[in-house]
Amino acid sequence: MPELPEVETVRRGLAPVMEGARFAKVELHRADLRWPFPKDFARRLTGQTIAGLGRRAKYLLADLSSGDVLVMHLGMSGSFRVFSKAGEAKPGRYHHARSQHAAHDHVVFHLSNGAVVTFNDPRRFGFMKLMPRNALEEQPFMRALGAEPLGNVFDAATLARACAGKKTSLKAALSDQRVVAGLGNIYVCEALNRARLSPKRKASTIATRSGAPNERAAALVDAIKAVLNDAIKAGGSSLRDHRRTDGELGMFQHSFRVYDREGEPCPTRGCGGTVRRIVQGARSTFYCLVCQK
Ligand SMILES: [Zn+2]
Repeated sequence: MPELPEVETVRRGLAPVMEGARFAKVELHRADLRWPFPKDFARRLTGQTIAGLGRRAKYLLADLSSGDVLVMHLGMSGSFRVFSKAGEAKPGRYHHARSQHAAHDHVVFHLSNGAVVTFNDPRRFGFMKLMPRNALEEQPFMRALGAEPLGNVFDAATLARACAGKKTSLKAALSDQRVVAGLGNIYVCEALNRARLSPKRKASTIATRSGAPNERAAALVDAIKAVLNDAIKAGGSSLRDHRRTDGELGMFQHSFRVYDREGEPCPTRGCGGTVRRIVQGARSTFYCLVCQK
């Protein structure tokens, strides 16, 4: 599943072609993805100008001149391709390979600037929704979201408040979208290693009894922001594919500190420990017992 940095690199790839352009023609090749397309979807988009392309958690949000917002989610396997005067591009940074098979091209946006943006999704867990901008925050999938980790509102106090009194593990708390939005398994593992905190530590231990942040909360917030920003930066410059023997693209694997690195030396300077894998909540956690306390 694409994680937040991947979605942000997709946004940055699409924004230059989509922002300011008008939907000249919209093709739908089927009636649904994860859910049916909204009623009159193509007709309601056609003629609208895209005022801006934003993001909240893993949702891409295209603000339209009609006052509607087009919400796009990549699901498990969704990706966009862009054909424009500059040639073909596949914006985004993906941990796993993405299909380019035409049979999975479900939505095609023909834009007024001549660019063609195609949405491809073999597994069809992605979706597109269209709604008035002012109804967005009331949507159940938006209302449940915690702070945006790269937003200004996300700081040690916010994270401590969200974790205060929680008996669950720090790993489980950080994976909960209500605590912090859009942080998936990979970046939770990475941030905990950077902050030198054990994934098994109780979430409540980053806050004082009154819910104020302690130094662990501050280190964790710094680590979360750093890990996401580094991943986004890497996506902008590194599009070289590197195919592993199992056929999966491992293009950005080398940028992970602990994720999928069981048995390798811990990258923390002077640590000397080894990366271990445990299972928490049916997901793999990679961490170092020596420096993550
Ligand atoms: Zn270590």
